[in-house]
Amino acid sequence: MSTEVVSVSAVSAEQQQSPSAPAQQTAVEKVNLLGMSRPQMEKFFEDMGEKKFRAGQVMKWIHQFFVTDFAEMTNISGKLREKLEKICEIKAPEVVHKNYSKDGTRKWVFRVGDGEGSLVETVLIPAEHRSGLRRTLCISSQVGCALDCSFCSTGKQGFQRDLSQAEIIGQLWMANYSYMEDVPVLERERSVTNVVMMGMGEPLLNYDAVLNSMRTMLDDFAYGMSKRRVTLSTSGVVPKIDQMVKDIDVALAISLHAPNDELRNELVPINKKYPLEQLIAACQRYIAKDGNESSRKHVTIEYVMLDGVNDYPEHAQQMIKLLKNLPSKINLIPFNPFPHAPYGRSSRNRIISFQKTLSDAGFVCTIRQTRGDDIDAACGQLVGQVADRTRRAEQWKKKVAQQNEILRSQG
Ligand code: SF4
Repeated sequence: MSTEVVSVSAVSAEQQQSPSAPAQQTAVEKVNLLGMSRPQMEKFFEDMGEKKFRAGQVMKWIHQFFVTDFAEMTNISGKLREKLEKICEIKAPEVVHKNYSKDGTRKWVFRVGDGEGSLVETVLIPAEHRSGLRRTLCISSQVGCALDCSFCSTGKQGFQRDLSQAEIIGQLWMANYSYMEDVPVLERERSVTNVVMMGMGEPLLNYDAVLNSMRTMLDDFAYGMSKRRVTLSTSGVVPKIDQMVKDIDVALAISLHAPNDELRNELVPINKKYPLEQLIAACQRYIAKDGNESSRKHVTIEYVMLDGVNDYPEHAQQMIKLLKNLPSKINLIPFNPFPHAPYGRSSRNRIISFQKTLSDAGFVCTIRQTRGDDIDAACGQLVGQVADRTRRAEQWKKKVAQQNEILRSQG
């Protein structure tokens, strides 16, 4: 089993089958502990008749020492380790492609099922910061995406399915492990400093799995990340923003990309359901909930710069009006064109002049550095290429098999 929690009683019942039963009937899918949040794992241990503090111990081994073999969990009794070995596993998604850029950017493509559509990607971007080196990981939450934003490579791939908790947290686990695989277990450290839920998919449409995964990111028994360093980015699923405010305290980013409804309906179609007025009001409720909390002092506004589409001076003026009552930081993103993209990247001058207008109006406005260009860091782009290569390899194999068949039939 690659993903979710199965009840212990179900596992035990299957395990208690007669030893003479056929092998295929006794095969038990193991429970993957990688994705469980602490409350889920505590319940799992209690259901097994074990003390719930075992959950914290096992979580530390998994998420702080990056161990996948129960035999290495030396503070757990041999008897319990044997029991866990029989019914559980710690399994990250399979890496089918990885690429480390000269500038330190790392990118992975994971296979999360059968079929050519079952690929997701994760990108890690390092950057020097006054507080030290930051390693920010952009995590995917769905295979593909149903929201079909017109500038987005992932949107063009359509929606396949939601990722499980193990598949979401597995991306963070793998990124950390990539720095530690040659380090002795007890000397391993957590290397990823920041997470943005901004990869493939709309995270608020896979709500429970994303929420539990973010809880694991914040948990001191797992990644122990500061709530200011975990950011959920949404295209604007308004009711779920309100739900998230009740459930967890993390940073919020909005993929805005247009300052008026007419243009946003075209670029981010979910805007037709939750127009800007509703979206901005939800952001204000997010701020108002806990105004003193540092993670809720502002919302980050993401704005992709599309040449001749949303980068005119009047768009900057509309942004100023739209955001005037919302404490926000604006991040301008130079568009990263993908094959057959219907848009181009705004010129450097245009981006700088857009930034100046917003900065002069008092906004903190930054331009995202383009990173990892040599490894196709635009969201969804690498998955498309890996899928293309897989498809071509399969077509080639089929062709060779057909030619062999013809040769055989010709004697
Ligand atoms: S930008 Fe985000 S929400 Fe829009 S299609 Fe792409 S992945 Fe989905």
